[in-house]
Amino acid sequence: VADIEAEIISVGTELLLGQIVDTDAPAMAQTLAECGIVCRQRVTVGDNHERLVALLRAALKRCQVVITIGGLGPTQDDLTREAVAEAMDDSLETVPEVVESLKEFFASRGVKWTESNAKQAQKPTCATHIPNPNGTAPGILCNKQGKIVVCMPGPPGEFLPMLEHSVGPMLAQIGTGQVIFSKSLRVTGMGESAMEAKILDLLASTNPTIAPYAKVSEVHLRLTARAATKFDALKLIEPVEVAVRKRLGSAVYGCDDETLESVVIGMLTSRGLTVSTAESMTGGGLGKRLTSVGGASAVYVGGIVAYSSQLKTAILGVNKDVLQKHGPVSAEVAQHMAENAKELFKADYAISITGNAGPTSDTDGKPIGRVFVGISGPTTRVHEVNLRGTREDIRNRAEYLALRWLREDLLNLNPNG
Ligand code: ATP
Ligand code: MG
Repeated sequence: VADIEAEIISVGTELLLGQIVDTDAPAMAQTLAECGIVCRQRVTVGDNHERLVALLRAALKRCQVVITIGGLGPTQDDLTREAVAEAMDDSLETVPEVVESLKEFFASRGVKWTESNAKQAQKPTCATHIPNPNGTAPGILCNKQGKIVVCMPGPPGEFLPMLEHSVGPMLAQIGTGQVIFSKSLRVTGMGESAMEAKILDLLASTNPTIAPYAKVSEVHLRLTARAATKFDALKLIEPVEVAVRKRLGSAVYGCDDETLESVVIGMLTSRGLTVSTAESMTGGGLGKRLTSVGGASAVYVGGIVAYSSQLKTAILGVNKDVLQKHGPVSAEVAQHMAENAKELFKADYAISITGNAGPTSDTDGKPIGRVFVGISGPTTRVHEVNLRGTREDIRNRAEYLALRWLREDLLNLNPNG
């Protein structure tokens, strides 16, 4: 069976200008893959009728399925409906029932009806509407001479539910029946080339394929299989995943949507342990990461942002002489911050971060990027690193490393920990 091919057209001058980021198209691309439909091309076009029509015509020549995102609203610059009708050599008709339901929608929200909104009740004659429970503009499904055009609203709050509940299942039906399914293994503490060296022979696998993606502080290893069903695809992935995990050991910390923070919170929860934070340079960023995980309250008791030396002494009880002698960016201060926070907040673990994130000057002779992270549990470990990048890079990386080192301690990897 020949592959069914699709093209995604994102419509909007805002996208072209870089004022908003296209998050819809990747979600659509993923759905296409899951449906066994090959995505041949993804393009972005401004709110321009002629160019959109030309693009649609070209896409329809190449592919059986064309998907547009955006430009379905009631305003002047929403041109998708008209362009699709023209590209399909069709005309628009108004569906009176949709006008009525739009009027009800407006009335129910106490918004005054303006006639321009009736535009949203139009569709090419070859098309049907796709319900949009989260907004005014319904989606459009055109089916003419073996070609399918799906028009979806741009706002993600409308797009994503429509994808999940209506368009996704419909695409699965037109797909070849083959499913493309991926699983990502998340690897930390091992660079891309070191990782590759360990699994070089496995990379030759074709079903599933294995592809490494270098991220900011970690590497993701994506295993992608093709099979008749998702279940069969998973069965193909499983033995390869086992082999990869065996090679990489505990460097694999999770998969798919798991994050280092969610994994650490999970480990603490299952061990019945609590953690607190004492942050300087990161200004609460570590606390923010921990609290971003649902269920964090079971393990994260809280912490303090002790930015000034005064506060480090007054609240965390860091010894003044130690501060003076070693400076706030030092292993000694990191150690005291962690140990004292653990006592003060009555937690099983405390993490401290102190460092110089730049961008301008040295802090008491400590170069930009010098960071100390203290992890105090049954014993205390202090890590020293020199990080590079912008102020934000350094702060982010420090938070990330703190989580990595806490995980290591929890795994009991460190012989001294
Ligand atoms: P509306 O009825 O709100 O006008 P629409 O279907 O006409 O919706 P657009 O006018 O193209 O969509 O975009 C409306 C808003 O939706 C944009 O300002 C943006 O916030 C969001 N949006 C549009 N396209 C995308 C996209 N591809 N990815 C993420 N957000 C998008
Ligand atoms: Mg619009």
